[in-house]
Amino acid sequence: MKLIDKLNQRQSTLFSIEILPPLKGKSIQSIFNSVDPLMEFKPAFIDVTYHREEYVYKKREGGYLEKVSIRKRPGTVGICAALVNHYDVDAVPHIICGGFSKEETENALIDLKFLGIDNVLALRGDQIKTEAVFVPEPDGHAYAIDLVHQIHGMNSGKYLDEETSDASPTNFCIGVAGYPEKHVEAPNLKTDLKHLKAKVEAGAHYIVTQMFFDNSKFFEFVAMCRAEGITVPIIPGIKILTSRTQISALPKLFHIDLPQDLLDVIDACKTEQDVKEAGISWAISQCKELVKADVPCLHFYTMGNPESTRRVASSLF
Ligand code: FAD
Repeated sequence: MKLIDKLNQRQSTLFSIEILPPLKGKSIQSIFNSVDPLMEFKPAFIDVTYHREEYVYKKREGGYLEKVSIRKRPGTVGICAALVNHYDVDAVPHIICGGFSKEETENALIDLKFLGIDNVLALRGDQIKTEAVFVPEPDGHAYAIDLVHQIHGMNSGKYLDEETSDASPTNFCIGVAGYPEKHVEAPNLKTDLKHLKAKVEAGAHYIVTQMFFDNSKFFEFVAMCRAEGITVPIIPGIKILTSRTQISALPKLFHIDLPQDLLDVIDACKTEQDVKEAGISWAISQCKELVKADVPCLHFYTMGNPESTRRVASSLF
């Protein structure tokens, strides 16, 4: 089912999760093990992230280093198909611009169509870890909006080769990313919102936000989106703090602020178990307030750790 229909037909706030493909070599059972504990909350959908290649240096005989391109977490599309098959749940693959030519994107979307997967989250992707800026493929997309245009075009039966005859249109529901605390590269939030609005006008049906720990940032972001004329559902992304190291890691990785009240609570924790408990209670209060505000869905970044999400979900759903 298309997510936008689920979002429009909902009676209350929905529950959804995002998972990562396992490291290369691990079995699909590791995915099921991390999803099983959350199925009792009937996720409206499960997102599966996409991880592009990165470069590593391998030590070779004679002492020289060889630069090798590897993908540590392949399998996004296969995992989506396995989730649909195993749980009969809607799975949403993340599709990125980075590393893909337009034709490779088209072929990936055709695979999804044949698999009966009709929801996608369209993203630009970050730069390769060892590069300073995002570089699109020579025949690829520079921004997520270009990817949205391509998917929207296929939904109208427009394929890259204009001679493709009797092309059957795809029927993708398209999600895009939004940043309550602004995307790191955007000069300011207003400009970022202008680009977000353009993604919606290009055909995106809903927005999922970057994680945030201060609800006022989310509420302000939604108000600014509405003032700009963005009317589609905006789904808050929730991350539950699970370790002290995340206090410095999350702002660095995701370019977000952590509220002082949360830092004070974590500072007062004596053990890592105390930090976990504090992270769970913070997320429960955050989510209760969001549910009260009737957000369309709570989307949990589980990052392979279902236990804390299960604890939070059981106090809400
Ligand atoms: P865009 O919308 O293209 O925006 C990127 C930047 O360019 C922004 O600063 C924007 O303001 C600016 N911009 C946009 N359009 C234009 C334009 N026409 N001209 C000039 N500037 C413009 N990454 C992954 O690699 N895999 C994943 O699975 C993944 N999942 C994610 C899920 C969510 C919910 C979120 C929030 C992020 C996810 N990311 C993922 C990270 C994301 O790919 C990065 O944040 C990336 O840097 C930006 O992607 P975007 O789709 O928001 O890009």
